[in-house]
Amino acid sequence: MINFTVGPVQMEEEIREIGAEEIPYFRTPEFSALMKENESLMTRFMKAGDKARTVFLTASGSGAMEAAVINLFTPDDRLLVVNGGSFGARFVKICAVHGIPYDEIKLESGRKLTAGHLIPYAGQGYTGFLVNVHETSTGVLYDMDLISRFCRKNGMWLVVDAISSFLADDFRMEEWGVDLVLTGSQKALALPPGIAAVVMNERAVKRVEKAEPRSLYFNLKDCLRDGERGQTPFTPAVGILIQMNRRLKMIDEKGMEREREQIESLASDFRRQISGMPFEIVSESLSAAETPLHPTGTLPDGSPVSAYRIFEILKDEYGIFVCPCGGELAEKVFRVGHIGHLTAEDNKKLIDALKDMQNRGLL
Ligand SMILES: *Cc1c(COP(=O)(O)O)cnc(C)c1O
Repeated sequence: MINFTVGPVQMEEEIREIGAEEIPYFRTPEFSALMKENESLMTRFMKAGDKARTVFLTASGSGAMEAAVINLFTPDDRLLVVNGGSFGARFVKICAVHGIPYDEIKLESGRKLTAGHLIPYAGQGYTGFLVNVHETSTGVLYDMDLISRFCRKNGMWLVVDAISSFLADDFRMEEWGVDLVLTGSQKALALPPGIAAVVMNERAVKRVEKAEPRSLYFNLKDCLRDGERGQTPFTPAVGILIQMNRRLKMIDEKGMEREREQIESLASDFRRQISGMPFEIVSESLSAAETPLHPTGTLPDGSPVSAYRIFEILKDEYGIFVCPCGGELAEKVFRVGHIGHLTAEDNKKLIDALKDMQNRGLL
């Protein structure tokens, strides 16, 4: 099996071996030291600055999205949400569930955010901005320089979901004035799903410390307090945090920029090889994390080639997983991930499988 989805992704053997070990008791100085190390590496990798803090939630990425919103904002805020796909729509739902006023900038699938989209919302009294920097559902990477300038100019709090972008694309939290950024364990961190990291700058920490979210489990103030001594309020996914420690150190040894270059080079290798085949890349602005593809061919009976059918055939007949899309895009687009433990060899196997499908008249 080769896994080209965008999460969970393939893990290095050393990380998988750690997953086979017994889970140690965690209220110990040893585990606290490991957690402090995780916090400092994570904060550094986000380029968050010296005063930033990171906490780890035992939750999928969506848990961290919800925690971010309810700990930083209240019904007295007014948020602007970029909704370019299902993850943007998730931020919208979180605001709605918690009664936090919002307006959404709805983008057509595959379209990037432009200055023109933002103009109508300037100087309108919005207090916060929510964005998924890489809208994984459609494969669009938004322009953080543009967003950062807009938020600074309008005095808005900036919350960024970088779940699938972290390590794949450049991210400069402090420089961009991002107040809170979050990511998850199962994307480019290439760990099992179950841990989400929330990185907060100094002013976000201060605001969170005064917040009264209506949630026991997702109270970031408690996480920050216990995190000072390397602990968490509740039993965390201890095993994944141990795997994370190893993985963060591996990235540090290699150099984070090198990690990103590897992902970028896999992505460009794949994009080079797919050109000339019956596919169209359907994003105005790509992340290195994935390539969204629309099949352009027709079958002998004249019907358009279905993206979902390609996903099924690759899975069932070639042992290769690509990422199908949901909703309206299901038949039109599938995505090929470039994160996780993948090689140029793997790319070649996927291209060969697609060429074989082409020869069989399936593309
Ligand atoms: C994967 C992902 C999430 C998190 O999804 P979970 O299934 O809750 O882990 C959130 N936002 C983006 C942009 C993602 O790619």
